[in-house]
Amino acid sequence: MHTSQIIQAWGKILRGQRPSLSLEITRECPLKCPGCYAYDPAHLGGGQTLRDLNDRRGQSLVDGVLEIVDRLKPLHLSLVGGDPLVRYRELESLVPQLLGRGIHVQIVTSAFRPLNAGWSAMPRLHIVVSIDGLQPEHDARRAPATYDRILKNIAKQKITIHCTITGQMMKRSGYLREFLEFWTPRPEIKKVWFSMFTPQIGDDLPEILTPVERAQAIADMLQLRKQYPELDMPEVVIRQFSSPPSRPEDCIFALTTTTVSADLQTRITPCQFGGRPDCSRCGCFASMGLASVGAHKLASVIPVATILKASIKVGQRRANLPKSPKGRAPKEVFPVLRPGQRTQHELSRN
Ligand code: SF4
Ligand code: SF4
Repeated sequence: MHTSQIIQAWGKILRGQRPSLSLEITRECPLKCPGCYAYDPAHLGGGQTLRDLNDRRGQSLVDGVLEIVDRLKPLHLSLVGGDPLVRYRELESLVPQLLGRGIHVQIVTSAFRPLNAGWSAMPRLHIVVSIDGLQPEHDARRAPATYDRILKNIAKQKITIHCTITGQMMKRSGYLREFLEFWTPRPEIKKVWFSMFTPQIGDDLPEILTPVERAQAIADMLQLRKQYPELDMPEVVIRQFSSPPSRPEDCIFALTTTTVSADLQTRITPCQFGGRPDCSRCGCFASMGLASVGAHKLASVIPVATILKASIKVGQRRANLPKSPKGRAPKEVFPVLRPGQRTQHELSRN
């Protein structure tokens, strides 16, 4: 992150806003990955699941996304799903409009279908392809987005690979090295990121790393980053996996990101996982990245996280302060559209 981006983000926090937005733009996904958090019954807080939501498509989706973006004005926007490429026509319309607003846009996909040829040349657009392990394990978990298909669909692109490390992978010594050996020589690969599987509280799944496997994954990444420059994970970030935030209230990533599900109304809390994520076993790369920033001590004395949390409180107080002697209702942090209510974009088009 550049200094100018940090200053911009800080400015938003002091105004009571969150600098990052993550939108699940569709409830659909052609994959059925074991351990997928998006379709977990806990993801939306219980009751309904992602598949139950009324999502949008066509111009209504484009308008809905632009309306939220124009309202919340994020500096960074992640488009996720389901799989956002299910709505590739809408994405092709949305991406230039979002970039035109100066936002950094990230599309997180399984690459089950080809990516738009023009995307590779667009500044501030980042394509992140999830590839979970070597071909035998990946293809078993993530068909139809198999290795063969991904290799065809990412041709001539510049992408970041995101691999979620599971307990199964860590049962075999040298697994992460083999993964990097396969992917990093390819011309399409700009960066590789590793996360670790993050369970909900009380989960007992084969994907969960044991403490020994977690420590081994950290040691492996620390070693591998020296040999594979594409592994774009600073040492301080990797070390952060050994002491993840203890609760969502301490997670800078959760505190600075708004996550909204596929009806463009439902907030996902406390973070992108939803439900009751087990922070003590969190393996989210983005969370560790921001935690490492928070752990940095300004003038070797005050951790950045302390200042950040104070800034968030100041921002929330300012956002809720009455402006006139008569006062006004506290501003909703994320006011939602009522069912059937039309967005400003929809109204302006009529
Ligand atoms: S691609 Fe993502 S959203 Fe789809 S099933 Fe797999 S983990 Fe879930
Ligand atoms: S990203 Fe990780 S640490 Fe942050 S709230 Fe979610 S599970 Fe907890």
